[in-house]
Amino acid sequence: MTPRFRPDPSQRLVVLTGAGLSARTGVGTFRGPDGLWALSPDLESAMHADALPGSLPALWRVWGGMTKVAADHGPTPGHYAIARMGAPVITQNVDGLHQAAGSRDVSELHGRAYAAVCIDPDCTWEAPLTPGGGDRAEDHGAPSLCPVCGSPTRPDVVLFDEMLPEAALSRAQALAISADVFAVVGTSGTVFPAAALAPLSREHGATTVLIDIDPPRDPFVRAAFDHVIAEDAHQVLPDWERHRDGATNPFLDPFG
Ligand SMILES: [Zn+2]
Repeated sequence: MTPRFRPDPSQRLVVLTGAGLSARTGVGTFRGPDGLWALSPDLESAMHADALPGSLPALWRVWGGMTKVAADHGPTPGHYAIARMGAPVITQNVDGLHQAAGSRDVSELHGRAYAAVCIDPDCTWEAPLTPGGGDRAEDHGAPSLCPVCGSPTRPDVVLFDEMLPEAALSRAQALAISADVFAVVGTSGTVFPAAALAPLSREHGATTVLIDIDPPRDPFVRAAFDHVIAEDAHQVLPDWERHRDGATNPFLDPFG
């Protein structure tokens, strides 16, 4: 068996993360047999932009509830290792756990479930949430109506048929281009635009790595990666961190 790939400490590491990284907090993933879509099919229709504003109670219930689960649990070993390695993060997650772990450079492609915004895209009102249970904005510490324009408020997550946040998307592309090692964690990376970022990164010279305990069999997906590590990210990423620290700090016990 060949030794597992590890980034060299001098290499610029960029990480793209998805739901799998937060799964052990109890936050459900969307796809798959145990995913939220399978468990409550009506939810999927509520996630489409054209269901607004009737879908607001479902959106508050689902996203507020998920954010509360994530916040109560806190970041995982994988989140902490990424933060301590100082790697910039591109994430499909909306739970804020990268920031909670200490990551400062986080591009959130799918928005933030821990913030409320106005349903009117031209209104710039926003506020942090205190996620709880329930299907009203007030249950999560936000007003139901925008204090600026009086429109309904909503969780700041990207719904189907909505544009991704432009700033996060262009930052993600710049990060992919700048990486020496581009690691995809907790997502198969099959959903656009995340699916385009690993190939973009490789085109610009990066080594691409997929870390997934159950990586996709699809050879087309795997072809985007130089290395596929079929192991638990919560073991692989702390191992990478120790490898980096061990190379820069000879006094650190590499097995500690
Ligand atoms: Zn407003």
